[in-house]
Amino acid sequence: MTTTTPATPATPGGAAEVPSDGPSDGGFEALFEHAPCGYLTTTDGGRITRVNETFLTWTGHRREDLLGSAFGRLLPVGDRILWSTHSAPQLGTTGSVSEVVVEVVAADRSRRPALVTATRVPARAGADAEVRLVVFAAPERRAHEQELIAALHRAEESEDARAAAEGEARRLALADPLTGLPNRAGLAAHLGAALAAGRSDVGVLVVDLDHFAVVNESLGTAAGDELLLTVAARLGAAVREGAVVARLSADEFAVVERCEDVEAARGLAERLLEALTAPVVLDGLEVVASASIGAAVAPPGPGAAQRVLHDAAVAVQRAKARGRGRVEVHDPTRTGAAADRLRLLGELRRGIADGQLRLHHQPQVRLRDGRLVGVEALVRWQHPTRGLLAPVQFIELAEQSGLVRELGAWVLDAAVAQAADWARDPGCATVEVAVNLSTRQLTDPGLVEAVTTALSRHRLPAHLLVLEVTETSLAADPATAAATLVALKELGVGVSVDDFGTGYASLTYLQRFPVDELKIDRSFVTGLGASDGDTAIVRACVQLAQALGVRTVAEGVETEQQREALAAMGCDVVQGYLFSRPVAADAVQQWARERTGTTAQPAT
Ligand code: C2E
Ligand code: CA
Ligand code: CA
Repeated sequence: MTTTTPATPATPGGAAEVPSDGPSDGGFEALFEHAPCGYLTTTDGGRITRVNETFLTWTGHRREDLLGSAFGRLLPVGDRILWSTHSAPQLGTTGSVSEVVVEVVAADRSRRPALVTATRVPARAGADAEVRLVVFAAPERRAHEQELIAALHRAEESEDARAAAEGEARRLALADPLTGLPNRAGLAAHLGAALAAGRSDVGVLVVDLDHFAVVNESLGTAAGDELLLTVAARLGAAVREGAVVARLSADEFAVVERCEDVEAARGLAERLLEALTAPVVLDGLEVVASASIGAAVAPPGPGAAQRVLHDAAVAVQRAKARGRGRVEVHDPTRTGAAADRLRLLGELRRGIADGQLRLHHQPQVRLRDGRLVGVEALVRWQHPTRGLLAPVQFIELAEQSGLVRELGAWVLDAAVAQAADWARDPGCATVEVAVNLSTRQLTDPGLVEAVTTALSRHRLPAHLLVLEVTETSLAADPATAAATLVALKELGVGVSVDDFGTGYASLTYLQRFPVDELKIDRSFVTGLGASDGDTAIVRACVQLAQALGVRTVAEGVETEQQREALAAMGCDVVQGYLFSRPVAADAVQQWARERTGTTAQPAT
């Protein structure tokens, strides 16, 4: 475990923050302030009463902002729910919780993985009960990566150096003690050897288990170990002969296998994902081991091992950011040479002008009566040579370059036109159309006018349009976002908070924003009914929405079991492959005609 060291010299805090039972010579104060871990105390109700300098340095928060505020506010929504539904009650009954894995949101909104241990000290004469929290920075993955890269550098220098690096790696223990798989050093040695042999078809997949911390926390480390062993065995069974499976860190595995190109790597990643998502029974409870997978193929030339590992690591981060439980492939055309990106960007700009964008629509079904109440419009690009491209293949580029404004304008107009078309069809006259807004669109001063223009141009009643904004984009510039949402509300347009639970939207923000709907992220829905942690999170999201008086939509519903669990919790609307994949407009009309007034029929 790595701990933090304060970046600033010792400066004891004000008298109010110093433990009252400490000696008065300042020695204890300095120890408290500059201990190698974060240290906080809270009231029984979770309000912060003291915080040490180490924690402030680590997170960038100011002492005056933290004192008196709730500890839970320092956690992203998912972790906050975990804290308030699991850890805090346990603390009240047993008096302590140890090593709860959470992320702490720093002042700059970046997240710091942390291990929190808390102890409750009962009320004594003259002192109220308090809770003492010790916060350690969780193991820094980057440090491991640096070591690995250094070893690879050495390995690539010469045959001798490689042999030496391999020998060193072997001495460092090539195997992970729990699973017996190669560890990071072992993987580096294998990868170095494969590339040194001149192979040009080496694929690397990084497999990161989603919410592993929740399993460990709710079922205990023995169950966590069992899950890891199951995952190791499943990965081993799913790869081809000659492939290497390694364990990189607590919940992170890697596979090195022969892959001719990125599509082969994607195919392999999808196979692995499928192998992993079969339920595992732990401690009598069924758990779904959902994972995020990043894949990359080694580029030609020197430094290949280092680049392919980096590319796979970046891809897996993207998979997690995009909602977990998914595969992301490092596509050299997207992140490769500036010239390639520029070409693709040019093609996209022309493609938008030439009418190559398409909209697919995914039905949203009301649980109460199974009626089709809306659709989400999802963009596709019919590329002249590369076929129908999914948003993941071009949205990021559009977002980074600013072209997402033109793309977003096209989507808005096309979706409103489509909705107006349906509004005139008695079979689906009440179907709402939801449109995704990028952060740039949300902060664009012309947004409200663009929406107004589209509505009046196609004569669509405003209440049939819903705009989906992510939690993250609301938090990016809350003041502007709030003003924009108020203006949209005045128009009568609905607002939905997308990917809810994955970002950092404080409850205060949510109350301030006039939103109509929370869309519970797919990563939580996946584990519903199978994982205790995910079930608790989804239930808390539904309750939160009910408390705020807004509708809940659950996305990514794939099984009957998930549908039933959502219905039992009182979730309003569901969307997912169980009902339909995103489809073309005429298929929606057909769908509406068949399902209007009937109970929800799972897709066949
Ligand atoms: P999102 O807004 O979270 O959209 C939901 C994604 O989940 C869609 O992927 C949908 O096909 C997929 N999905 C729905 N149900 C299920 C299910 O049961 N199982 C699984 N495994 N997946 C399901 P898609 O169409 O590839 O879109 C990906 C993302 O691209 C969207 O995520 C959204 O962030 C972005 N996007 C799509 N269209 C637009 C657009 O017009 N504008 C902007 N700015 N972003 C868009
Ligand atoms: Ca969406
Ligand atoms: Ca979403």
